[in-house]
Amino acid sequence: MYLKSIEINGFKSFANKIVFEFPQGITGIVGPNGSGKSNIGDAVRWVLGEQSARQLRGAKMEDVIFSGTQSRRPMGFAYVAITFENANRIIPLDYEEVTVARRVYRSGESEYLINGSSCRRKDIVELFYDTGIGKEGYSIIGQGQVEKILSGKIEDSRELFDEAAGIAKYKKNRTVTEKSLEQ
Ligand code: ATP
Ligand code: MG
Repeated sequence: MYLKSIEINGFKSFANKIVFEFPQGITGIVGPNGSGKSNIGDAVRWVLGEQSARQLRGAKMEDVIFSGTQSRRPMGFAYVAITFENANRIIPLDYEEVTVARRVYRSGESEYLINGSSCRRKDIVELFYDTGIGKEGYSIIGQGQVEKILSGKIEDSRELFDEAAGIAKYKKNRTVTEKSLEQ
């Protein structure tokens, strides 16, 4: 399983539809300051269900939508789709490729899709539990996160190890069960 492509349209600095294709192996993205490298990482976090505008380096969620330039009008929506090659079925869906997508309008109206079918945010979050890919997995390591891991707050590293060991899913389900038993 590996990330095959990222399609971005109207997200942050990407006013035009752009598709990044990644061959298997390592790809580096280079460019001048402010050219949008970090925005690509933000796009991946966002499509995986990020709900915090601050985590995406904005003040409010609407800030993810292209806000226009002197020569270009703002966009009305932001759309991101990421596609994984899934030959080994690490993502638990019986498809060779899995595409998850998210779209949001300025009204705040938003939708998530798995392989083109509408779904809930929860479905995307659960799909990636224990794959290491979720927005809280270890596949996206932001600048602040490196320090967090190295500075060794034990609870923070614990979550990463749970995810890597494949038990995060069971812990989340246990919490849900405990909550429903309490009611
Ligand atoms: P650095 O090398 O400094 O880390 P970078 O390539 O990572 O730079 P980003 O932080 O990804 O750059 O991109 C920042 C740019 O994205 C800024 O110019 C900012 O104006 C632009 N940007 C962010 N949000 C939006 C938006 N909603 N609409 C238009 N442009 C945006
Ligand atoms: Mg950057």
